Amino acid sequence: MAEELGVREAVLAMRGYTPGEQPRVGKAIKLNTNENPFPPSSKAIAAIQAAATGALQRYPDPVGTAFRMEAARKWGLEPDWILCGNGSDDLLTILTRTFVGEGDLLRFPTPSYVLYRTLAQIQGARVDEVPFRADWTLGDDFTSHDDRLRLVFLPNPNSPSGTLLSPEQVARLAEQLPCPLVVDEAYADFATTCCIDLVRDHANVIVTRTLSKSYGLAGLRFGYLVARPDLVAQMIKVKDSYNCDALSIAGATAAVADESWLRGNVEQVLALRASLAEGLEQLGFDVVPSQANFVWCTHPRGGHESLYLGLKSQGILVRYMVYDGWGDGLRISVGTQDQQAALLRVLAEMLAS
Ligand SMILES: *Cc1c(COP(=O)(O)O)cnc(C)c1O
Repeated sequence: MAEELGVREAVLAMRGYTPGEQPRVGKAIKLNTNENPFPPSSKAIAAIQAAATGALQRYPDPVGTAFRMEAARKWGLEPDWILCGNGSDDLLTILTRTFVGEGDLLRFPTPSYVLYRTLAQIQGARVDEVPFRADWTLGDDFTSHDDRLRLVFLPNPNSPSGTLLSPEQVARLAEQLPCPLVVDEAYADFATTCCIDLVRDHANVIVTRTLSKSYGLAGLRFGYLVARPDLVAQMIKVKDSYNCDALSIAGATAAVADESWLRGNVEQVLALRASLAEGLEQLGFDVVPSQANFVWCTHPRGGHESLYLGLKSQGILVRYMVYDGWGDGLRISVGTQDQQAALLRVLAEMLAS
């Protein structure tokens, strides 16, 4: 039926992106989608409440000027270097629609964020998935030239590995590439370095950020990107007119202004990340040193899918990932101390049996 009614071939052929499970009932311990284990800044909540009692009969500011000014202040830029998005997934969609047409090539590393492939498929574009090397760096094949190459995505820190390329390494990739390099910094607040400064002197570097992870606002849906003003102006033509609502613009602006909340939260998450990694290592897991709010781990005994299912049956969700031709493992988000203790207890029981 969908075929007869003319759904585009590119859409019929795609599988669609499957987000991590989001149970709506019960009290599952959710360590599967890298949400913050703690609630957001109370200043953000107050700003959302104030906006809700404000003028919701009016359309929101189409470009989120209040947020652009706050983010520009934070990074020492002008507001026209900032573009707001309905989550950073919205920005990744806008980027793909702006740069990648039918038959063009979109490149990204693997294993990494699975959504990039879906975005290319919607455009009827081709993908070039370049494997990370064993040490999670990228070789010359990541910067090789192709007449149809239009856009490159690089999650940094990467998901699911949690590994980080330095700004110097990213700058070198950008210099070798003939097209824009989008550095997806969803997890950069948990890392030791970031690439926002590269945008100033590398015309082809674009950085995306989200408030879903480090700011504890996954439910609000807000992200932003940093790029040269001439690129931002083009992307404004592509985005939905009102892609961010009045509540999210208000909440995000207050959240980004509350820098002491962010510092305190990140400090807590990093301490919990260290204890999660240590607990997993004590159970015999190989844990990749992480620069994000999750860890990637494998067990020499394998059986990762049954560990995932066993945890799930006990109400603990982690992300089981399998990448064709590469292997599988578990990506486990940092949780509260109690959540992590429950996780490690159940894993210990399963591994003992
Ligand atoms: C979580 C995540 C995003 C999406 O974040 P939203 O702002 O919630 O859409 C983008 N990229 C990576 C690598 C992520 O892990």
